[in-house]
Amino acid sequence: MSEPSSHFRAIFFELYESLPRQGPGNRDCAAKAIALCRDLPPGAAILDLGCGVGGQTQHLAELTAGNIVAMDSHAPSIDRLHAAVAERGLAERIRPVVGNMADPGFPPASFDLIWSEGALYNIGMNNALALCRRLLRVGGYLAFTDAVWRKDAPPAEIKEGFEMDYPTMGRIPDILAAIRNHGFSLIGHFTLPDKAWWTDFYTPMETGIEKLRSKYADDNEALAVLA
Ligand code: SAH
Repeated sequence: MSEPSSHFRAIFFELYESLPRQGPGNRDCAAKAIALCRDLPPGAAILDLGCGVGGQTQHLAELTAGNIVAMDSHAPSIDRLHAAVAERGLAERIRPVVGNMADPGFPPASFDLIWSEGALYNIGMNNALALCRRLLRVGGYLAFTDAVWRKDAPPAEIKEGFEMDYPTMGRIPDILAAIRNHGFSLIGHFTLPDKAWWTDFYTPMETGIEKLRSKYADDNEALAVLA
């Protein structure tokens, strides 16, 4: 029998890889952020860090005329993006790569736009901002989403859950200060609407969990993970 932890990982990834995206966000929000990048050159060089299965990467391909390198450290997600890119005839525009964003291996000033949805925190926000600053060309843009505390006293379960995944999670002013401390000038920021969490992320997750509950109906350990 497998260890509970490896069982947890297997079920976690089976669920996660099946989702259209691995964090909150949607096309409208991506379009709103892209609209803030007013001087993006045609054919912009774009890097999507921590792209997951590439839901937002494909939106970026629709919303810009740029060429996109989409990087994630989880090879099965990159395989899935490869398949989607081939199916949609986007191979000229999107290059999915397995890589570690802490050391992505690009020379300085390689990109006009760095995009990252719900992923930069994995290498620490300060490391990520320093890295993005180096990789961007003069006049380039960084657009990212990051989870922040929005209430002084969140419910205990929420606090515990997020602290497990992101112990250094801050508040909006902390992130804005970090952005400025790394030499960026802030063009704009907004809060993702509830829909971007519920409709685009948690609802597919709930559907996925239900499917796996049927698949693993006889496996109590799997059911415990899903619960
Ligand atoms: N941007 C996607 C995925 C967000 S989940 C979306 O919004 O749907 C965060 C992603 O970061 C995961 O796919 C995870 O594999 C990736 N990740 C975590 N650490 C990483 C690292 N060091 N380098 C590259 N990707 C990383």
